[in-house]
Amino acid sequence: MESVRKGLRSKAITKDTYERLECAECKERLKTRNDPDEVGSVRFCPECGREWKQVG
Ligand SMILES: [Zn+2]
Repeated sequence: MESVRKGLRSKAITKDTYERLECAECKERLKTRNDPDEVGSVRFCPECGREWKQVG
């Protein structure tokens, strides 16, 4: 899974005017879930299901 930072850099994730993370493709605000297999939390798009891990 790619990191949120990498997603932002590759423009797969954008930020809205309130600095909230959005899926660049769907324009959906990313939701958060905790994944016991990953350190930190997972940000995902409820529309297309893409996921990015958020460390810290
Ligand atoms: Zn999406």
